[in-house]
Amino acid sequence: MTYNKKTIEDIDVAGKRVLVRCDFNVPMKSGVITDKKRIVGALPTIQYLAKNGARVILCSHMGRPHNVLDEKISLNKKEKKKIAELPEEEQKAAEKAALEKAARDVSELSLQIVCDALNELGIAAKMAKDVVGPDAKAKAAALKDGEVLLLENVRFHAAEEKNDPAFAKELASLAEIYVNDAFGTAHRAHASTAGVADYLPAVCGYLIQKEISVMGKALENPARPFVAVLGGAKVSDKIGVINNLIEKCDTLIIGGGMAYTFFAAMGNNVGTSLCEADKIEDAKAMMAKARERGVNFVIPVDNIIGREYDENTPYMAIYSDSIPDGWMGMDIGPVTRELFAKTLIGAGTVVWNGPMGVSEWKNFAAGTEAVAKAIAESGAISIIGGGDSAEAVERLGYADKMTHISTGGGASLEFLEGLELPGIACLQDK
Ligand code: ADP
Ligand code: MG
Repeated sequence: MTYNKKTIEDIDVAGKRVLVRCDFNVPMKSGVITDKKRIVGALPTIQYLAKNGARVILCSHMGRPHNVLDEKISLNKKEKKKIAELPEEEQKAAEKAALEKAARDVSELSLQIVCDALNELGIAAKMAKDVVGPDAKAKAAALKDGEVLLLENVRFHAAEEKNDPAFAKELASLAEIYVNDAFGTAHRAHASTAGVADYLPAVCGYLIQKEISVMGKALENPARPFVAVLGGAKVSDKIGVINNLIEKCDTLIIGGGMAYTFFAAMGNNVGTSLCEADKIEDAKAMMAKARERGVNFVIPVDNIIGREYDENTPYMAIYSDSIPDGWMGMDIGPVTRELFAKTLIGAGTVVWNGPMGVSEWKNFAAGTEAVAKAIAESGAISIIGGGDSAEAVERLGYADKMTHISTGGGASLEFLEGLELPGIACLQDK
């Protein structure tokens, strides 16, 4: 999928009210933002618009709140099921308590905290108390050129995720132009990520522009050799990604938990390793496809195996054809670390998704670190997609050595699968 979409620089924004969908879904702990990266990432687009005289209206979701701004709050399926399982005489009280708890989302998942962070970062944003209610409407109408307003959490309305046209239209009515800069939700067709584009001229901000240009080029016209490195937990999560990349890459490196399903497909014993019996046929088909297309297919020759899935479990290195019963593969082994590093030398483009082992635990992080180091030193255009992969690269200290770390977990995977992303497809072509 290649996209050539208009950006904020391709339209005249001066004096116009511009609705910008950001990804302010920041990680929080005890009411404090633990990582402001997503807010900092949104600044270039906001600053450009403000500097060029736009009246900027920001919106985003945060977390999974209840629909606290709708007329009647509804509980989610899980909550309803839990209540239904209680003895009948307890159900009413339980429902009341659950609704009261849900109502607290108003304060706990309010974007006020993001507004405060924006203020600290030099954007004098004002906060609206609602999304499409009277406060948002009055404040949006009163904006002067260069001023910034932040709407409340769009998921305070159930209509957001339902992509309800009436809600999308009402949201759109606040503005004259729509800008999508939330790559993390671009694979979702929600009212604020896609629906509003039915009612407004729609373009992308700098974040989405960078994602689609860097990843798009890697997939459509890569500097060769193009090496795809795939790992992570499960084959089932990545079948689409592997199949799409096999058609484009010169070399495919497989590591992580998914490697064991491939070992099983080759007839090896995998002990208690993560292995999806129902995906063995898929693994065989992917290997055949790689062979047919002449793709160099590289899998681990040795592994670090552990007694059980535990941070402090005893471990040892062993060759891939000798994994004993009662042991599980936790990381690629030392010989494989060198093999993979050697394979990466001279690459023109590397797309990496999925850690090589349980890299959250230090005894099983060496494989992921070796691959990160090899990619950093390869001089290739390097693209990291996937939430856990991005986190691992950052934790291991290689983030600034990569060309591009995608900001969207699920969205970057769908992009690598070659799927159309509704939040991008809805924007105007150049
Ligand atoms: P991403 O989010 O980058 O797409 P995944 O979610 O597919 O990556 O995979 C990351 C997860 O895979 C991590 O939680 C990691 O612990 C797990 N993992 C990697 N290797 C193994 C393994 N050998 N056994 C079990 N889990 C693994
Ligand atoms: Mg993940």
